Amino acid sequence: RRLMQLPEGLSVDEVRPVEAVVGHGFFPPGYWDLLQRVATAYCTPLMQVVRTALPPGLLRRSQRRIRISDPAPLAPDDTLSPVAQTLLTVLRQSATGDYTWTYLKRQSPRANQGLRELIQGGWVRSYLEPPKAVRPKQRQAVTLTGASPLSDLSPRQREVLEVLRRQGGELWLQDLLQRCQTSSSVVQGLEKKGSVTIQRREVLRREMTATTADQPQTLTSDQARVLAAIAPLRHYQSILLHGVTGSGKTEVYLQAIAPLLQAGKSALVLVPEIGLTPQLTDRVRARFGDRVLVYHSALSDGERYDTWRQMLTPQPFVVIGTRSAIFAPLHQLGLIVLDEEHDGSFKQDQPAPCYHARTVAQWRAQISDCPLLLGSATPALESWHRAQPTDSQSVAETLYLSLPQRIHARPQPPIQVVDMRQELRQGNRSIFSRSLQEALTALRDRRQQGLLFIHRRGHSSFLSCRACGEAVHCPHCDISLTYHQPTPEATPTLRCHYCGYAQRSPSLCPTCDSPYLKPFGSGTQRVVEAVEQQFPDLRCIRFDSDTTRTKGAHRALLERFAQGDAELLVGTQMLTKGIDLPQVTLVGVVAADGLLHLSDYRAGERAFQVLLQVAGRAGRGDEPGRVILQTYSPAHAVVQAVQRHQYDRFASEELHQRQLGFYPPYCRLVLLRLSGPDAALVKQTATAIAERLRTAEMGQVLGPAPAAIARVARRFRWQILLKFPLDVAPHTVDWEGLVRSHCPPQVSLTLDIDPLNF
Ligand code: ADP
Ligand code: ZN
Ligand code: ZN
Repeated sequence: RRLMQLPEGLSVDEVRPVEAVVGHGFFPPGYWDLLQRVATAYCTPLMQVVRTALPPGLLRRSQRRIRISDPAPLAPDDTLSPVAQTLLTVLRQSATGDYTWTYLKRQSPRANQGLRELIQGGWVRSYLEPPKAVRPKQRQAVTLTGASPLSDLSPRQREVLEVLRRQGGELWLQDLLQRCQTSSSVVQGLEKKGSVTIQRREVLRREMTATTADQPQTLTSDQARVLAAIAPLRHYQSILLHGVTGSGKTEVYLQAIAPLLQAGKSALVLVPEIGLTPQLTDRVRARFGDRVLVYHSALSDGERYDTWRQMLTPQPFVVIGTRSAIFAPLHQLGLIVLDEEHDGSFKQDQPAPCYHARTVAQWRAQISDCPLLLGSATPALESWHRAQPTDSQSVAETLYLSLPQRIHARPQPPIQVVDMRQELRQGNRSIFSRSLQEALTALRDRRQQGLLFIHRRGHSSFLSCRACGEAVHCPHCDISLTYHQPTPEATPTLRCHYCGYAQRSPSLCPTCDSPYLKPFGSGTQRVVEAVEQQFPDLRCIRFDSDTTRTKGAHRALLERFAQGDAELLVGTQMLTKGIDLPQVTLVGVVAADGLLHLSDYRAGERAFQVLLQVAGRAGRGDEPGRVILQTYSPAHAVVQAVQRHQYDRFASEELHQRQLGFYPPYCRLVLLRLSGPDAALVKQTATAIAERLRTAEMGQVLGPAPAAIARVARRFRWQILLKFPLDVAPHTVDWEGLVRSHCPPQVSLTLDIDPLNF
């Protein structure tokens, strides 16, 4: 066994293998095996997997930070070496005046030297930021004992006892003091006389919103059939629940979970993005009350830490969470549900481990020996493929169950495809076709509500120059900066959502010095402006990354819309995710084309999923719905399949194409991502590694090629794609010898096994 160097004063027999500690009660049974499996399969050091799994408050490291000195030394900048000047420029652009050592070190191959120079010259100082450990939150509780005789007591003390008695004999010390307008010495006096006890108790920081209780619905016959197939399963089995939008999948999940809780078992429900699905969280809470725990990265560190510790207790819980909640330390798992299982946000692109929560869920269900339920109206092709019987295996790996109809046999909304080329030819220059204009007029007359969907690659507003046409870019990344509107407190700012860089909105164009800078709205904003022009009495709510940045914004906007504050909800992909708004009768897809012409092999699948999901938002209530899909490519196979609601045919044709092109699920992909501050070195390394892989006859090698965004945070990015036949397990490849040992320290390399986004 290889031992690391022991800290001074520690002898070998004081050291125990980590398994001996974590194996006993720290994690639930089988959990350690899960982490090890993730580490192996995704070729990631185990400790990195542990960091991904555990809440951030549990494992904190102290960080070294570099801050600009104020005042700066009197010497002019140009007395510094070029590398020191570069680093100083980077630091000056930081909104907070500092960066971590780790970040700065990555800015240049010789950053270490430059930093030393800056510190010695007094330009910057370096300091160690201590870890902010999260601890349980405690409060003091005062409890009545009923002991001492009242006669001994002062009037103040008597009053305190009286208040406590009226409140049922117990109050938090703080609340008690506030009610009685007194000091803690009075209460401490009571404790000395034995009339009360004061105890420290842990209180849980938990995100909670009050909800009303709700009862199980009487299932439709389709739902009952599906539940009857799931409920008796006690062992590992993966199930694909293919239910059209509005078919009542959620009700099935809830009724499958209820008996498990009764039997003392827990359930895990994973959703794509929690902010986008407040309705689902509400429904689960309404059904199971305080058995429900929510776990995701938007919680505060304290909330995550407390929820984590609560999950470690052997009580049964229903945990709802995003991707990382697959690592919730639950004992006795009875069921794992992935809702909207096709969604790309279940995949982590970085940092390593680049895991897919669906795959990890499968391992976890196997280890816990419980069923795994994948639900979607538009299953991922991989999941659909696994649910098909194959020639060699007459029974499919995954059990296929379907809900082919909407609740109460509500019809699927008809989808009308409008050819925008023809609109233009016939003189209509509006972004709305005549059909959509008529539908909007009808919506206004009937006082109904609708959704307008727009797909745009850049999702947010940016600042652009009307003289030279350039948008203002991040100095560190190949991406335009997001424009943040001025508020009464703050001037307009530009921010980079990749690296965190921020600056005040400039008054002159950085490229041509012209003063004609103008903020350009997102796609949604332009749609809103068009509605305002053509339909001034229709009110819009924008639902996109600009308007939903703050915590709780999704919920607030959806509530306003549900209350009838507006007739139209205008948004991007966010609209496709599980929103259940029964009053929506019209869905307009303003332009489907941006989606149709993306370049990777999954573009067709993704476009189909997005379009069918957004169409599925129409007509979920008593009024029938309709969908108008505007496009410049009405004959596109995806458009045709969406129009006919033909998932099955689309899936089998698309799979056929994948088989011909040797793409997943007929092969395994591995993406090597390389990045570093020196453009030439990264390119050279990528080329050399690709060459080695070709010589080693490692599957099919594509590339190297620059990444889609070729520079992020001043690092240049290249990638190599490998295709392996299915009988080669990528984790068994000697990555260390073939690849890592050929990577210079200035170039970092990530292995993305089964990559989705590239
Ligand atoms: P999905 O998750 O498949 O999109 P939901 O579970 O959200 O569908 O159901 C769509 C709507 O139908 C919801 O408003 C839900 O309350 C309602 N619903 C579901 N099951 C039933 C049922 N058995 N009886 C009546 N209404 C139901
Ligand atoms: Zn310009
Ligand atoms: Zn940036």
